[in-house]
Amino acid sequence: MDRLHRGRVMFVGAGPGDPALLTVRAVECLHRADVVVYDTLVPPEVLDIVASTIERLPVPRDGREGNGDPGEAIGRLLARLAIEGRTVVRLKGGDPAVFGRLSEEMGPVREAGIPIEIVPGITAAAAAAAAAGIPLTSRSAASSLTILTGHEAADKREGIDFGTLSNLPGTLAIYMGVEQVEKWSSGLLSAGKPADTPVTIVSHCSWPDQRIAVSTLAHCAADFARHTWPAPAVVIVGEVALPATGHGSPAVRGPLGGRRVLNTRPSGQGDDLDALIRAAGGSSLRVPTIRIGPPESWQPLDDAIRHADTFDWIVFASSNGVRGFVSRLREAGLDGRALGTVRLAAIGPATRQELDRAGFACDLQPELFRSEGIVAAFGQLAGPARFLLVRANRGRDLMRRELEALGHFVTEVPAYSSEPIAAIDATTAAAIDQSPVDWITVTSSLIAESAVQLFGPRIRHWRIASLSPITSATLRRHGIDPTVEAAEAVSDSLVAAMAGWETAHPSPSS
Ligand code: SAH
Repeated sequence: MDRLHRGRVMFVGAGPGDPALLTVRAVECLHRADVVVYDTLVPPEVLDIVASTIERLPVPRDGREGNGDPGEAIGRLLARLAIEGRTVVRLKGGDPAVFGRLSEEMGPVREAGIPIEIVPGITAAAAAAAAAGIPLTSRSAASSLTILTGHEAADKREGIDFGTLSNLPGTLAIYMGVEQVEKWSSGLLSAGKPADTPVTIVSHCSWPDQRIAVSTLAHCAADFARHTWPAPAVVIVGEVALPATGHGSPAVRGPLGGRRVLNTRPSGQGDDLDALIRAAGGSSLRVPTIRIGPPESWQPLDDAIRHADTFDWIVFASSNGVRGFVSRLREAGLDGRALGTVRLAAIGPATRQELDRAGFACDLQPELFRSEGIVAAFGQLAGPARFLLVRANRGRDLMRRELEALGHFVTEVPAYSSEPIAAIDATTAAAIDQSPVDWITVTSSLIAESAVQLFGPRIRHWRIASLSPITSATLRRHGIDPTVEAAEAVSDSLVAAMAGWETAHPSPSS
C-alpha cells in the first residue's frame, strides 16, 4: 500500500460530555478525521464539533450486537476502515484507557500493523470530583484512589475483595455503579467500612442536567431508590466525598447553568454564540435551520467588484454579505485599494464587526438595526448617489425601493444564498430529544420561519431568544412570542438577555 495513504487509528478521550472539557489534541484529531466511530456515552454536544462532511459511525457501547467480544468486533471495524487508508478517530467517553475496552479494540488494529495514537481524556471520577468541588486524594484523609466498576458486583461478587477495598486508606471511585448500588454498598459495609462514610454521587456529570447529591454508605442504596439519578453516574466514596458546602451543587455554573440551548445558526457560523452560551454555564447544541451557500452566479458580484470605485456607497446587509464580498475581492487578486473613495455602510453591529475583522473601516452604521435605519441615514444626502447593495439571494427589497424613491441609483448583487433546511436529520432529531431543551436562539427572520416549519408545535415549549425587533415580528406573525429580545443585534446581547431572564426566574434545578 502507498505509505502516504496509510490509515491510522486514534483512540480519543471525549471527556465527560461538556465539549469545553475536550483536550486541544482531541479537537485537532476530530478536525482531521475521515471517520469518527463513537458510542452512546459521547453526547451530541461533543459530536457537534465534528464537521458535517466527516463520516460518523455509531457503535453500541455495550456491544450486545454481533458475536464474540464486542471490543474486538469494534477493533476489526476500526482496522478495516484504516486499511482503506482513512484516518479513523475512535471517540470514547471520558478517558479511553478507563473501562473502555481499549486493549480489545486495539488488538485487531495492532495485528494489522496500523499506527495507533491514544489521546487521553478527562475521566468521569476527575470530572465528578471537580464538579462537586472535592479532591480525590488528600494528605490527611485519602492517600490512594481506587477506580472500580460497580457492575461486576452482580456477576462476580465473589471476585470483588470488599475486605481489601474497605481497608484501603483512600477514595473509591465507582463507575457503572447505579444498578448495583445495593450489592456494592452492602459488600463494603459488611467488610467493615464505616456506615457514615461520605458518598458523593454525580449523575450526568458536566451535562446540562448534571446532578450532585451527598449521602452515606449506609443510606446511599435507599437514596438511590428514592431519587432519579440517571446513568451515567459516578460515585465517590470516602472521607474526601463531603463537599465543603455540605449539600447540593457547590460549583458556580453561571446564569445559564444547567440550561440547554439550541443554536440555530447555520454551520460554519455562530461559534461565538456557542462560546458565549458555554461561558454563561449553558450547553449549546447546533441545529441549523438554514443553509448558507454561494449565490447562483458570482458574475454580478464580480462585475460590481471590478467597478467598485464607480459607486459612492457599498451597503452590506449582513456579515455573510461581507464574507462573500471579501472572498471574491481576494479571489480577483484585489484588496481594499480597489475600492477607491467608496464609502462603506453596515446594517447592524454584527455586520460592522465582520467588516472590522476583514480590515475595512465602516463609515456608517445606523442606530436602527435594519434597512429602514440606513434609508433614514441616507435621506440626508445632498444629491443622488450610486449605491451597491451586497445582500442575500432573497430577502426584503425595501431598501432598494426606498433609496430609489429618494432619487438614488441602486445596484443589488447577491453575495450568498440562504435556503431553509427541508428536514432535520435523524441524528440531530435524536440529539434534540436526548435531554430537555430550555432555549432556542433565533437570529434572523429566515431562521425564524424555518424553525417554525421544522420544529412545529415543539417550539412553543421552549424559551425563545430573538436577536432583533424584525426577527421578533416574524415570530409573532407565526403566533410565537419571544421570551427575550437582544438589546442590540449581537451575540453578547442575546446571551445577556437569556442570562437576565434566568436570573429573574430562578428555578430549583438551576
Ligand atoms: N472511559 C470512561 C468510563 C466508561 S465506563 C471514563 O473514563 O470516564 C462508563 C461509566 O463511566 C458510567 O457508567 C459512569 O459510571 C461513568 N461516566 C462516564 N461519563 C460520565 C458522566 N458524564 N457523568 C457521570 N459518570 C460518567
